Amino acid sequence: MAERDQLEVDVLFVGAGPASLAGALRLGQLAKDAKRALEILVIEKGSEIGSHGISGAVMDPRALDELLPDWRESAPVESPVTTDELWYLTSGGRIKAPITPPPLRNHGKYVASLQKISKWLGDKAEEAGAQVFPAFPGQELLWDGDRVIGVRTGDKGLDHNGNPKSNYEPGADILAKVVVLGEGPRGTLAKQAIARLKLDDGREPQVYAAGIKELWQLPDDRFKAGAVVHTLGYPLPPETFGGGFIYGMADNVLDIGHVTGLDYKNPTTDPHNELQRMKQHPVIAAMLDGAKLIRYGAKAIPEGGLFAMPRLYADGLLLVGDSGGFLNGMRLKGIHLAMKSGMLAAETIWDALRAENCDAQMLSAFERLFNQSWAHAELRTSRNFHQGFKNGLLPGMINAGLSTLTGGRGFGVADKLPAEPGYEVMEKAGYKPAETPRAKIDGVLTFDKLTDVYNSGTMHEEDQPSHLIVTDTTICRDRCTVEYGNPCRYFCPAAVYEPMFEKNGDAVEGRLQINFTNCVHCKTCDIIDPYQIITWVPPQGGEGPVYTGM
Ligand code: SF4
Repeated sequence: MAERDQLEVDVLFVGAGPASLAGALRLGQLAKDAKRALEILVIEKGSEIGSHGISGAVMDPRALDELLPDWRESAPVESPVTTDELWYLTSGGRIKAPITPPPLRNHGKYVASLQKISKWLGDKAEEAGAQVFPAFPGQELLWDGDRVIGVRTGDKGLDHNGNPKSNYEPGADILAKVVVLGEGPRGTLAKQAIARLKLDDGREPQVYAAGIKELWQLPDDRFKAGAVVHTLGYPLPPETFGGGFIYGMADNVLDIGHVTGLDYKNPTTDPHNELQRMKQHPVIAAMLDGAKLIRYGAKAIPEGGLFAMPRLYADGLLLVGDSGGFLNGMRLKGIHLAMKSGMLAAETIWDALRAENCDAQMLSAFERLFNQSWAHAELRTSRNFHQGFKNGLLPGMINAGLSTLTGGRGFGVADKLPAEPGYEVMEKAGYKPAETPRAKIDGVLTFDKLTDVYNSGTMHEEDQPSHLIVTDTTICRDRCTVEYGNPCRYFCPAAVYEPMFEKNGDAVEGRLQINFTNCVHCKTCDIIDPYQIITWVPPQGGEGPVYTGM
């Protein structure tokens, strides 16, 4: 059996998104200024830096202005935002808002691809002295008591039963004085740490949305680079949180997506289907006439805001970016907050390393720095945004409007509106929903999930353990079939779950087929499964989607 390598670094960042990369870069800058050598390592599960990076994205450059003031000379943004519109879609028409609400005004912001930004930021972090290793998934945290001392990366070359094959390579143990988790939403290691250390004690539950996105090549310049449209209304029913986005990228590429709150009642809600339906709207269908689908992807979005953020520090540990809940749902923006969180984490770690003390008490400075920063002030103004939609679209919009006038309070009597975990909102016994309308798939404007998975570039080797662990599939067969009608066949945007159950007299027979090779790593199943029996863990390093331009 091959030996497991051990590697020691000063600081390990897990997940090469904007939070970790900005953190590694800032730490490199601080070390360089002080002429001190530091071992900074960033590991990433994707095959390349940025290949799992997906976001809207309209990027606020505020953090980047602080981190790399000359970023405009080299950053691969698509276009400055040129126009901003908000549309309310009815089933056949569109009402354009006479004024764009302040949170959605994007003058001075940039339409960007997170994949390209991450790749560029990875190069900058390396120039600043960090090492960046793609195809290295963080599999589990290494502990000394309740102190995090490192990360074990995933093995390669296991067969579907978990037995070593001839190409078996064990993962490495990477020991670090501080581990920074920037794995994105619902990170595997962040989930382990939050559960073990109860980092969410006293906090509101995190609530998420599922963002589904496609890139289309337009035949002409009918939708200009830098044009930004957000939509509300159709295709979602008023009781379900969500909306659409349409952004003009360079070279006549259209970025179109739909966000569905993962706190819906109707178990037949299907975020992928909602994007397909949105494209069938006459206004949007006309926009895509003669265009060609070129890319697909999906990702969960942490929407809960300030009060849903877990404690961000522990002994040897910090949480940044989406893993820490740094996202402004009201503005549908997180890249700038992720970067700022990474930068503040770097400053905290720098002081801790100099003091040779990386205990929780020393690292708690991260929360203090955050509380004093513009990132906290911004999140405070949107702290009750998502919660305001609990009773539907109209109260949610009124609350959002009031929030902008009241500094974030909205219509809450108390400072904070209560939240509940999305998986508890799904209705079961007694709720007999109509199945949500299905888009007619034509292979031109609308696509089924498997075609879209193909367009995500997703690849997983078949002969390996499934990276979707369902702890008890008898619950799927005996309870979920009856109580919810197996919503996994709807909520997964990659057709991973295939319930093959049949009624036989009073009994239900059959099994749950898990087509894990389709998985686009969005984490929706781990979040919304009503029994909370699905755990997403990373597959072999370098596998999953290959997002280009997303
Ligand atoms: Fe997303 Fe889960 Fe489906 Fe993978 S299996 S695509 S993580 S919902």
